[in-house]
Amino acid sequence: MTKDRKLIIAGNWKMNKTVAEAVDLVTALKRDLANVKEVDLVVCPPFTALSDVSRVILDSNIRLGAQNMSEQPNNGAFTGEISAQMLKEFSVRYVILGHSERRQYQGETDALIAQKAQTAHGAALKPIICIGETLEQREANETEQVLETQLKGSLAGLTPQQMEETILAYEPVWAIGTGKVATPEQAQSAHAFIRSVLAGLFGEAVARRVRIQYGGSVKPKNARELMSLPDVDGALVGGAALEARSFTEIVTNSI
Ligand code: PEP
Repeated sequence: MTKDRKLIIAGNWKMNKTVAEAVDLVTALKRDLANVKEVDLVVCPPFTALSDVSRVILDSNIRLGAQNMSEQPNNGAFTGEISAQMLKEFSVRYVILGHSERRQYQGETDALIAQKAQTAHGAALKPIICIGETLEQREANETEQVLETQLKGSLAGLTPQQMEETILAYEPVWAIGTGKVATPEQAQSAHAFIRSVLAGLFGEAVARRVRIQYGGSVKPKNARELMSLPDVDGALVGGAALEARSFTEIVTNSI
């Protein structure tokens, strides 16, 4: 499959894996995915495993991502927070921002996500910014309006160049961890809409270059079809990223 944009497939391990389990998983991925050049590969372990996972993937084709970080640009009195500079210490390259679980359980807003995105770019970390509608919003025909609001809010203040270095993840909330995957038509239509909003905000050329991942119950059996859609440029994988075999198959089925 040829697409102008290189696919990027990231595993979001969420609040799972001890350090030993994380090392086992990434060691298997490093072995099984060693020959993959066509896809950018990212793993996002919990903070506690970043250091050890980072050592395992040194000199491999797997890059490290974090699942969140503080919006504060400088270290200081922010109890419980992790700064961009701390992530850099472990060679973290990507950071997931605004996952729907953080929007829901931690009350993260688009404005906060925009601040975090600025901080990430300030530290040369690439944000993976998550957006997506709930089931109620989809059923009320509000999907496009919700996506546009989230995009305008969470990308506020980014320069076109920063936008090109940002990854978006379209994750319909009703498809996350539910086994209910968006149909190819639903996914393509949302991704094309997102790209049209980007064109309005940052210009056509930037919009054509931004990679938009799909997330929500991506599995080995549906990966090929989803990844072949014209505006889908990768996947953000939750449950199926917790086992080497399923994550590997998602990657190999996508090539
Ligand atoms: C996610 O949490 O980003 C996700 C897509 O989860 P799952 O693949 O389990 O639906």
